[in-house]
Amino acid sequence: MPSVSPAARRAPSAVTAAVIASILTIPAASAASPMPQDVRYPGIIQLSVDATDIDHRVFVVHETIPVTAGPLTLLFPRWLPGYHGPAAQPNRLAGLVIKAGAQRLAWQRDPVDPLQFHLDVPAGTTQLDLDFQHLNPLEGSRNNITATRTIVDVQWEGTLLYPAGYYSARIPVQPRLRLPVGWGAATGLRDPAGELAAPDASGWRVFETLSLEHLVDSPVVAGAHFKRIELDPPGTERPVALDLFGDDEAALAATPEQIAAHRALVHQADLLFGSRHFRHYDLMLWQSDEKGDEGLEHHESSEDGTATGYFDDWDKAIQERELLPHEYTHSWNGKFRRPADLWTPNFNVPMQDSLLWVYEGQTQYWGRVLSARSGLINAQQARDEWADVAAWAENRAGRQWRPLQDTTNDAAIGDDARKDWQDWQRGVDYYDEGSLIWLEADMLIRQESRGQRSLDDFAKRFFGVDNGRMEPLTYRFEDVVAALDRVQPYDWSTFLRQRLDAVGSGAAAPLGGLGRAGWRLVYTDKESQNARNNTHRGAKISDFSYSIGLTVSDKEARIEQVAWNGPAFKAGVAGGATLLAVNMQEYRPERLAAAITANKDGSHPIELLVKDGEHYRVARIDWRGGLRYPSLERIPGQPDLLSAVLAPR
Ligand SMILES: [Zn+2]
Repeated sequence: MPSVSPAARRAPSAVTAAVIASILTIPAASAASPMPQDVRYPGIIQLSVDATDIDHRVFVVHETIPVTAGPLTLLFPRWLPGYHGPAAQPNRLAGLVIKAGAQRLAWQRDPVDPLQFHLDVPAGTTQLDLDFQHLNPLEGSRNNITATRTIVDVQWEGTLLYPAGYYSARIPVQPRLRLPVGWGAATGLRDPAGELAAPDASGWRVFETLSLEHLVDSPVVAGAHFKRIELDPPGTERPVALDLFGDDEAALAATPEQIAAHRALVHQADLLFGSRHFRHYDLMLWQSDEKGDEGLEHHESSEDGTATGYFDDWDKAIQERELLPHEYTHSWNGKFRRPADLWTPNFNVPMQDSLLWVYEGQTQYWGRVLSARSGLINAQQARDEWADVAAWAENRAGRQWRPLQDTTNDAAIGDDARKDWQDWQRGVDYYDEGSLIWLEADMLIRQESRGQRSLDDFAKRFFGVDNGRMEPLTYRFEDVVAALDRVQPYDWSTFLRQRLDAVGSGAAAPLGGLGRAGWRLVYTDKESQNARNNTHRGAKISDFSYSIGLTVSDKEARIEQVAWNGPAFKAGVAGGATLLAVNMQEYRPERLAAAITANKDGSHPIELLVKDGEHYRVARIDWRGGLRYPSLERIPGQPDLLSAVLAPR
């Protein structure tokens, strides 16, 4: 393996460079000279968004842009931070009218890049008035619902156009937002005096003037049912708050112990990073069965959405309780410390994602660790999570052809399309597989330093520098290696590249960290409590991945995923079909489980009656391994370092 992959070293291609030049160049200026980084846009964009039409879920936008005469290109943001890819939804913009005074101007969409709008500004014009709407989805998967009758999520990137030619950090915007009267709101934005913005009598909130970059990183979540809980003592510099929204008032009820665990999260993050890189921080959490699940990080806030029951189902909503620790960690890992190739001048220059195994992988690690250290989950629940991740990684057939490094391109490929063969295609594997690599790095540091140091030291030295600084501090692969080496001398470059670039028969899941932590992955015939809880909390999937190699939705008995080359695959089964019967009895999850167990001696091969479109067929699976669910088992005689990592500091 090369010590640095081609992906980590690649320079922008000629095509990319041309696109960047066009986006960063004012049409009137020389095509070869994009504006330098320190040139501020001359004038302040005024942005008004009226989000009161909850009947139609339409945001009405009025935008005023100071301009000079001549050709002008306006951009609709395409490459969105947090999504790491071209996640814009330009089809949600409608009704665009651009005026210079009373004169309506013709605009033309760029035929090659339809997120660019070209127009000619007439002589004597000093500002343009734009009117349009942002149409929130009315239906669809829960994942893309941004507005309901009780909660709206105003993501500014869908509600503005901005002038080409300038860095987004150098374009000033003053936003105003109108919400239904009586609604509560949370955001990283403050009013011009630096206070929480209070609405006027008609529901308008006026915010501070800030850069376009900062604005797009500061969405507003608002709702009819709202409660704000300060997580820091009064008077804390750079304080953190928990903002709760729900479909109804009951969802906001939390016990003192539950709030205490969230306060402990803030405290444990302080101990871990030793810094805060925000003026104030808002964990904006909605629980809703109508509005989509979300986990989107920002520098001074996060959009965090779960199904109803985050507090009510405390014993069962385990996976959801890694959400806030994960998104909060991103304020350090991702927002303040940012991969150099991910940082872009504005939202229409393509991002590159080669270091997402740090950005997301180590955030996944600290998210899981901090959720245990803060008491949001207990040690057994954390171990069950690690068991699930380890088994998932061990059964990722796609590492035969696709190295982990290549999966960092998934956000740019677009991960929206359903993947029929997830384990073979791989997806955003850098999250969980990244967390396994960082577990191994943590264990290596602990062992090599004879317990003197750990990955906590890396977190403090890498993410904790320049306390209070908000401007992103970018890094490259070499910087990660050097920072690890300063914590504990080791051949980190080879360690990381082997795990990132391995492919083919020599590629194994990075489970070395578990072994060094004193635990090993085993399979038993009993599902963990966590897995049963996940099913209860809405996954509603019966998981036979590690036995006959398929998952089935409980509601429609639809075969969701079939493991590549697994027993069901070899019997001709594919996803999308309906599982009608097991051994000619109507399908029920417990019947399939019993059939799998009954064939352990090979005397009762499992017959599945499957409906594929209008075709029926019987698939005969002679699997003799019984039921298999992941679990962690102690390695006798070895110190339990995993419990040490998960214990509160
Ligand atoms: Zn993340």
